[in-house]
Amino acid sequence: MSNTKKIHNFSAGPSILSQYAIEKSREDLVNFANTGLNILEISHRSKQFEAVMDESRSLIREILSVPEDYDILFLQGGASTQFFQIPMNFLKTSASYTNTGTWATKAIEEAVHFGNVNIVASSEGKNFNFVPTEYTINNTDDYFHCTSNNTIYGTQIQEFPKCDIPLICDMSSDIFSRPVDVSKFDLIYAGAQKNLGPAGVTLVIIKKSMYNNMSERHVPTMLKYQTHAKNGSMYNTPPVFPILVSKYNLEWVKEMGGVQGMEKRNSEKADLLYSTIDNSEYFQGTAEVNSRSKMNVCFVFKPEFNSLEEKFETACKEHGISGIKGHRSVGGYRASLYNALPLDSVQALVDVMTNFNK
Ligand SMILES: *Cc1c(COP(=O)(O)O)cnc(C)c1O
Repeated sequence: MSNTKKIHNFSAGPSILSQYAIEKSREDLVNFANTGLNILEISHRSKQFEAVMDESRSLIREILSVPEDYDILFLQGGASTQFFQIPMNFLKTSASYTNTGTWATKAIEEAVHFGNVNIVASSEGKNFNFVPTEYTINNTDDYFHCTSNNTIYGTQIQEFPKCDIPLICDMSSDIFSRPVDVSKFDLIYAGAQKNLGPAGVTLVIIKKSMYNNMSERHVPTMLKYQTHAKNGSMYNTPPVFPILVSKYNLEWVKEMGGVQGMEKRNSEKADLLYSTIDNSEYFQGTAEVNSRSKMNVCFVFKPEFNSLEEKFETACKEHGISGIKGHRSVGGYRASLYNALPLDSVQALVDVMTNFNK
């Protein structure tokens, strides 16, 4: 390769993975577990792949301290499939949702087809720039659904609400980025491609007691959580390669101090970038300070400096800063600081932000 310039990958998803995971899985494309075969070309029922499944599950159980009465499932269809699979299984009459961004809105749009949806709090009126904290969850509802990190707007739940009904959370963009008390949740789900692994696998952590809360409606076999629980996520062919890469990524997370280590690392990166924004002549953050996400940092030019956009973007390109364009629904800039992104990359961005107009 002739281009050796270091690229700093701030992509929102799919996004940066640990170099360790990339290298280990590259080896498995040549000789997987000493089979002499490529991981992509052998049976998912082989004992070598069964071992990958088992190790992935036990790494997740260990890293997140998942209690024994929870199943860990590897599903397909992305987090977006969970938007309808959850209500299809568990919405009997009514469910509570918070609307804190585009993904939460999409989850609500799917749920309304299965029952009544109470939107107990929404930040839509302020372009989703904060996470509501004062609201009442209807304790006769079938479940409460929230989004832990709003990827597009750069806001994040700082403290999960107390909840007397099953608590369901979309953690697609911040799972494994910080410790969470899994025992407080009844179902956690995450599309892999932000902080876990490549696109194509969806992680579901479900409390076994949820199987007693099934609605009466017919749910297709593939969309029943029990189907996958009973079959160790091997009812049908699982996405073998995304699971393998995720496993290596989890080994890296563990090696780096687990979710405590990740939280420390992510806080350092976020603090550096937010303090740069707050002290900047040119930029301002878009999220309210006490709702700020450590995973996705959204910022814009102060209105009087809008004309500097092109100059800034050119400087970013020159310095290998990649993937900071804001989501098409918000504009501005979004720097995603997922687990694997090194502090050096944030420093490179900060240097450009402070020096581009000199
Ligand atoms: C990216 C994202 C989704 C969508 O995930 P898919 O796997 O593409 O369906 C859902 N929720 C959140 C919070 C996300 O960041």
